Amino acid sequence: ASGSSLLRDPRYNKGLAFSESERDAHYLRGLLPPAVLSQQLQEKKLMMNLQQHHLPLQKYMALMDLQERNERLFYKLLIDNVEELLPIVYTPTVGEACQKYGSIFRRPQGLFISLKEKGKILEVLKNWPERSIQVIVVTDGERILGLGDLGCQGMGIPVGKLALYTALGGVRPSACLPVTIDVGTNNEQLLKDEFYIGLRQKRATGQEYDDLLNEFMCAVKQNFGEKVLIQFEDFANHNAFSLLAKYGTTHLVFNDDIQVKGHFYARFYDSTSFRSSTTVVRGFLFLQGTAAVVLAGVVAALKILGGILVDHTFLFLGAGEAGTGIAELIALEMSKQAKAPVEETRKKIWLVDSKGLIVSSRKDTLQHFKKPWAHEHEPVKDLLNAVKAIKPTILIGSSGVGRTFTKEVIEAVSSFNERPVIMALSNPTSQSECTAEEAYTWSKGKAIFASGSPFGPVRYNGKDFVPGQANNAYIFPGFGLGLVISGTIRVHDEMLLAAAEGLAGQVTEENIEKGLIYPPFQNIRKISAHIAAKVAAKAYDLGLASRLPRPDNLVKYAESCMYSPLYRNYR
Ligand code: NAP
Ligand code: MN
Repeated sequence: ASGSSLLRDPRYNKGLAFSESERDAHYLRGLLPPAVLSQQLQEKKLMMNLQQHHLPLQKYMALMDLQERNERLFYKLLIDNVEELLPIVYTPTVGEACQKYGSIFRRPQGLFISLKEKGKILEVLKNWPERSIQVIVVTDGERILGLGDLGCQGMGIPVGKLALYTALGGVRPSACLPVTIDVGTNNEQLLKDEFYIGLRQKRATGQEYDDLLNEFMCAVKQNFGEKVLIQFEDFANHNAFSLLAKYGTTHLVFNDDIQVKGHFYARFYDSTSFRSSTTVVRGFLFLQGTAAVVLAGVVAALKILGGILVDHTFLFLGAGEAGTGIAELIALEMSKQAKAPVEETRKKIWLVDSKGLIVSSRKDTLQHFKKPWAHEHEPVKDLLNAVKAIKPTILIGSSGVGRTFTKEVIEAVSSFNERPVIMALSNPTSQSECTAEEAYTWSKGKAIFASGSPFGPVRYNGKDFVPGQANNAYIFPGFGLGLVISGTIRVHDEMLLAAAEGLAGQVTEENIEKGLIYPPFQNIRKISAHIAAKVAAKAYDLGLASRLPRPDNLVKYAESCMYSPLYRNYR
């Protein structure tokens, strides 16, 4: 290739890091200034540049420019500075970027498939320059983060999520494909915006929607084969449920935020026109990545608390999507550990909603997905009294409402526990059930605390406490890597339990001593390799892996498969 095309291709471009001999061999003389910089020095310069931008969105744009200019340097930067850059490349900044995607859009970073492409989706997929795709993240832009319908501008989400699959999970960038399906938008502001990049029409629904998605799903399998992982991201709930349910038996599909399970099936059935697959759905279970992260934290906490899961009593504040999903995964793992039916282990888990403790006398008025949690107990109207009555060893907040773990609540849970586990999962930080400082102070240093939003370390009584963050970026990259390296063709719920165990296994004695129930995020590549190995092992055990023979050492194998962003020599 000519020197200038080498410089223009982000996959090969190294900028000033091209060596003297590469400059000779590839007609680069004169196209670059004379200095030769190491990748390390380039990285240092870029971090300095980034720090000069004050607005997160400016940092985001600088990073996207880098990704389009020099891919390896982009990933090197992201991997080496993961804690600092994750909130830029993904939430919260990516949300702002999507809102302004129209004006910052420069070059397509993924595939746009709109109603205009109906009947031609296979051809559209063939326009993508890469042939061997392993992970697709697809959105229809209807429920982007907490921001609602952003239509075609949702593209920032698959792009960002796949950057994490590469940086955190080691999936090759060339094997990742971001896709946005544009069926219109109901966002009036966008429809009126003369610079809007998407289809200027209301969202197609019903048959028209289903047909386009079905054409896409079939074309993906035809063009990229059976082993490509398709992650549905930020679809509206009703579509997300039916997509998982419909394609779970024919494709390798995953959703980080929602789950489809027996008792969710009714909701899915009510809210869509999708009728015929009722029997197929029933036997299947799709659990959310998010719940696996929480389960991992709980399992790690057992190293401090002792016992197995069923020896503990759980109380949730919030019985919505998150609360019931997490509760179900914990009940399943309990049932596996204790070899007891899940109907029994659910009884160790209690939930409080806006009307108080969920108990059997409320059963007739409860939404479908709450019914399995309605145990025998007299009515209790609020959290504090529920804590006193149930005496949980593990307290989990998932209501989305801040400041609900009050001093009284934390004092109560600390009064009958040597080490109460307190997880304040609601996001963002302003909605956290309590702060890390409050948890440590009010429990007099007894609490083992983790949260959904990040909190810094806290010094209390001369001792340092490090709160853990239940961040779903712990699980999905390694989970995806495990599926990919084993050539798995279907997702099974046992694989998600395996991923949770893999993550919990990465928490060291040293972490535990500081009260930390999640491993430090800087080690995420190693963590992902261990999670991938567990997931792959489960896939082999279940007979769902297609890469044969099964490697002897799956951790080593996972590590050897991971993309490295170090420059290569072109000679
Ligand atoms: P959701 O489906 O709306 O559920 C909210 C639940 O909280 C409902 O059961 C609701 O009661 C209950 N609730 C609301 N206000 C309450 C109050 N003042 N007292 C008692 N209960 C109350 O929401 P979701 O999707 O589950 O999400 C909830 C939160 O979890 C969000 O903040 C989200 O950010 C967070 N989350 C965190 C993670 C993580 O890993 N960090 C993962 C997922 C979700 P009713 O049922 O009676 O209305
Ligand atoms: Mn999401």
